Amino acid sequence: MLTLTCPCCGVTAEETEFAPGGEAHLKRFGPGSSDDDFEGYLFARKNPKGVHFERWRHAYGCGKWFLAARDTNTLEVFATYKAQTSEPPADVIAKIKAKRPDWEGYK
Ligand SMILES: [Zn+2]
Repeated sequence: MLTLTCPCCGVTAEETEFAPGGEAHLKRFGPGSSDDDFEGYLFARKNPKGVHFERWRHAYGCGKWFLAARDTNTLEVFATYKAQTSEPPADVIAKIKAKRPDWEGYK
């Protein structure tokens, strides 16, 4: 069972209290971008076995969006943090590298 802690209200709960929102930190492409960039933004998503950054919403709680860094293989959650970040914070990266030294890093 995946257990997440909402960074907005501090509640720790099982994943059924939250709604998944897909991959986090997407770079958005719109009108004026190349067809390949736009197609990638619309359809291409990472699906790693290991460290992944995701969007979640505290659907049955405060209702706010947040981001989670977790391992899709073990369900270990490294950190949850506010959604208003364009890339993972340095302290989150440090936590992941401490637990997964062979992790290749973000991007
Ligand atoms: Zn919450």
